Amino acid sequence: MSQSTTAPKAEQIATNQFDAAADLLGLPSSMRQRLYTPFREITVQVPLLMDNGDVQVLLGHRVQHNGARGPTKGGIRYHPTVDLHEVRGLATLMTWKTALLDLPFGGAKGGVSVDPRGLSKLELERLTRKFTERVALALGPYRDIPAPDMGTNAQTMAWMLDEYSQKRGYSPAVVTGKPVSLGGSLGREEATGRGVMIAMREAALDRGLPWKGATAAIQGFGNVGSHLAQSLVAEGVRVIAVTDAVGGVHNANGLDIAALLAHASTHRSVAGFKEADALTNEQLWLVPCDFMVPAALGSVITREDNASTLQCRMLVEAANAPTTPIADKILNERGIIVLPDFLANAGGVVVSYFEWTQNLQQMRWEIEQVYSGLERKMVTAYRDVSTLARERDVPLRTAAYAIALQRVADAEELRGN
Ligand code: NAD
Repeated sequence: MSQSTTAPKAEQIATNQFDAAADLLGLPSSMRQRLYTPFREITVQVPLLMDNGDVQVLLGHRVQHNGARGPTKGGIRYHPTVDLHEVRGLATLMTWKTALLDLPFGGAKGGVSVDPRGLSKLELERLTRKFTERVALALGPYRDIPAPDMGTNAQTMAWMLDEYSQKRGYSPAVVTGKPVSLGGSLGREEATGRGVMIAMREAALDRGLPWKGATAAIQGFGNVGSHLAQSLVAEGVRVIAVTDAVGGVHNANGLDIAALLAHASTHRSVAGFKEADALTNEQLWLVPCDFMVPAALGSVITREDNASTLQCRMLVEAANAPTTPIADKILNERGIIVLPDFLANAGGVVVSYFEWTQNLQQMRWEIEQVYSGLERKMVTAYRDVSTLARERDVPLRTAAYAIALQRVADAEELRGN
């Protein structure tokens, strides 16, 4: 099932280790084909009326990769790099993620190729409503349930909910990651970052790495990176470097994350923070630390740029698809542990599942229930993966794949043809 070497990176990365895991399980080729091929792909034209009266014609996509285990689930991304290949790769990852965490969902992803930073709030609302209208036929609380991703947030989900509900009646369970006042779950905002911290902590204890007093460096200070940084500091881990799209900062004694958050909210970047040295995104990868955490874009850890020069003991994939397959191999050879994306960053979809459950039951969970449920899910998933990795002497990614593939294959088999 390997992609050709000319296939775009997000797709290659999302299927890295697919063959190794399928071999480990002895899956027949017809099942491999069923698990590999996307179920449904939709591309839509999204005309966007700009505030100045011009109309920009954008392209949007929604890929539903596999729904054997339940309604498909996955975020909506607004970013200039969005195309069908990237969305397909990310949808595939969602299938493995929901299966690995044993959630009753399949995998999907969507997005529009656009730079949201250049749009006004009204333009963003019109864009979201038009995109929703054009993919609405394929959505639904028991069909396909979007959530935020890069460039989208709780407000985007509120507009999607409203657009969908206008046609089909009030349907809060059609999207997750909503504002709390509109049926969102307590704890969803910080869930991915908090979940990354839980997976890191389990992996550190399991693999003999330091924890309290350990050092971490993070690329990205958005939803995932900023909440991860706060969770790490609460655990006594020192966050010594942070970068974002504009620049970065470094302080070997540990950054004051509360002060950095305040700086970033005023200046829209961590760059220029006074109590640290300036750091570029290229320099970030050379920072010696226990945990290096890409939490922004995909394909940032590559053979050409940094796989041979990273100076960390564990690479924590908080971003989706940050490591190319060849870089992954180099890291394995160098003995750097890789905590794979569809395990490390699964906290968001876990709490999205809690949100969906609360919407369907018209109940509200207390924050303690959300946090303890998240803790249990992340710890169980890490331990399942680690146990299999040791038993079969394979990297964590291959073991995580094997567990996920087996679960989806079982569901496919049981549902029949
Ligand atoms: P976000 O839009 O909130 O933040 C993105 C961050 O990345 C920002 O700090 C931005 O400045 C930075 N960034 C963008 N371009 C960059 C560049 N060229 N160099 C360095 N930094 C850059 O996005 P997010 O929700 O935090 O998502 C980050 C990653 O985590 C993505 O890969 C996403 O798919 C993944 N993820 C997010 C969630 C979630 O719940 N939000 C869940 C699972 C996985």
